[in-house]
Amino acid sequence: MKHELPKLEFEYNALEPFIDAKTMEIHHSKHHQGYVNKLNKALENHSELQEKTLKELIVEVNVLPEKIRTAVKNNGGGVINHNFFWTILKKDVEFKGEIAEAITEKFGSFEKFKEEFSSAAATLFGSGWVWLVLNNGELEIMQTKNQDSPLTEGKIPLLVLDVWEHSYYLKYQNKRPDYIKAFFSVINWEKVNENFLNAKK
Ligand code: MN
Repeated sequence: MKHELPKLEFEYNALEPFIDAKTMEIHHSKHHQGYVNKLNKALENHSELQEKTLKELIVEVNVLPEKIRTAVKNNGGGVINHNFFWTILKKDVEFKGEIAEAITEKFGSFEKFKEEFSSAAATLFGSGWVWLVLNNGELEIMQTKNQDSPLTEGKIPLLVLDVWEHSYYLKYQNKRPDYIKAFFSVINWEKVNENFLNAKK
């Protein structure tokens, strides 16, 4: 079984002006596709691993054959992280539902959560991702480097922001904080709420 680039559920310009169409197009059709291609290449001579789902590969990535471990970690991670990222992006979705209550309870207020998440995104050195995860039933903000996934640590992703430069450089150049601020206008809270309810099961 070959891994494939998922079709986006929205147009490249759907997140304008917060995330521009050109960035979305390159990010999805070039960067994301690149990870898919390299993942398939890495698994080429490992038919036993081709049977596994991408999630299984990432959960077990640290015990994969050493020869392809790094390639699967980087490229499989690149695929699964972007697959997930696209699903939590949508404009004009209200912050509400059980996730809103849980965030307010955990962080004190939405503003406090925003501050803490933004700070984690701004201070991540180099390339990586900032997540809201469920860890043993608790909400937690965490950073991962490169294409590492919280799944490898047994944590369940609820929300994520890509802070690789390729995700914002065309529009925001070196101004990562502006991109982080804009992100809060394109969070699909309905989807994040769904992720939260599923994670609690
Ligand atoms: Mn990316």
